[in-house]
Amino acid sequence: MTQENTASPASRLIDKYGRHVNYVRLSITDRCDFRCTYCMAEEMTFLPREAVMSLEESLRVAAAFVGMGVNKLRITGGEPLVRKNVMWLIERLGALPGLDNLVLTTNGSQLDRFAEPLKAAGVKRINISLDTLRPERFTAITRIGDLDKVIRGIDAAQAAGFRRTKLNAVMMRGVNDDEFVNLVRFAVDRELDISFIEEMPLGEIHGRSNTYISSEETRALLAPHFDLQATDESTGGPARYWRIPGKTSRIGFISPHSHNFCDTCNRVRVTAKGELYPCLGQNDALNLLPLLRDGADEGALRQAMMDSMGIKPFGHDFSQQMDSPQVVRFMSMTGG
Ligand code: SAM
Ligand code: SF4
Repeated sequence: MTQENTASPASRLIDKYGRHVNYVRLSITDRCDFRCTYCMAEEMTFLPREAVMSLEESLRVAAAFVGMGVNKLRITGGEPLVRKNVMWLIERLGALPGLDNLVLTTNGSQLDRFAEPLKAAGVKRINISLDTLRPERFTAITRIGDLDKVIRGIDAAQAAGFRRTKLNAVMMRGVNDDEFVNLVRFAVDRELDISFIEEMPLGEIHGRSNTYISSEETRALLAPHFDLQATDESTGGPARYWRIPGKTSRIGFISPHSHNFCDTCNRVRVTAKGELYPCLGQNDALNLLPLLRDGADEGALRQAMMDSMGIKPFGHDFSQQMDSPQVVRFMSMTGG
């Protein structure tokens, strides 16, 4: 049962621009069973185990945030479902009073076995990344993944009773732009939501500017096929949604370039090694790991979280950075 978050107004996270942070994206691993071309380099060096927060440390961080008014937590990575004993953490997060909205982003590869336990643990919604419906292309984009397994994962999520499951597709010119119409049809047929994401310059990967497509261009591409109606619906994240009359699916666009959403930003990110990033598109961070490991009490941990509000910048600007990123962390490091 959901319990209201009772954090006192004085302990809430408000940044210097008056934005209330009530949403945390918590990365629990930098590792992944895929190597998506836009997210990782082909050869990745992952963190040594001791540099990664233990599950107990992740739980402590999450609980401290919830004590400060955070009511939405997204578990992410890397691929969160490859983290050993991940259900130990998720079951405890699901039982945290005041956390109304425990959600997960996954590549779907492990969902066939995890969908039911995730539902039982209280996960409310799942986002599944899916950039293509063509098996060979899927293996090329992920460098290793198997599309069938992900489709089985999507089926398992629906069979487990997850509603409003959302597909996330990164838009890439010359890579998957010929499939946007089919991806929407797939979502509509299965009563899934789908969001198209503008590719962000996170990590040194050459040639991003050649593949970048704006949300507007994709909407124009979809327009002859679907009667897209703009809505003011929100799921508490950065997506803006369109609907097709008579269908349940929402068609979302996450547009960090073309429709910068910083003015309403309500979130911060914690990496697998315990760095608190107040902004995905900037390099300022506050390291929580020493506090967690040096015996700091709850008060010190909360104070550090409060201090991070002072370094939350007004926003980011990705526009001039596609081939020479200002942020050298890959998305798999910071957590999507
Ligand atoms: N492994 C999980 C997955 O793929 O859903 C969770 C982590 S992944 C980093 C989270 C999201 O970030 C995915 O939807 C992925 O497509 C997206 N992503 C990764 N790198 C990106 C980039 N450079 N620009 C835009 N989206 C990116
Ligand atoms: Fe892994 Fe997700 Fe990054 Fe793909 S987008 S490499 S699945 S973390």
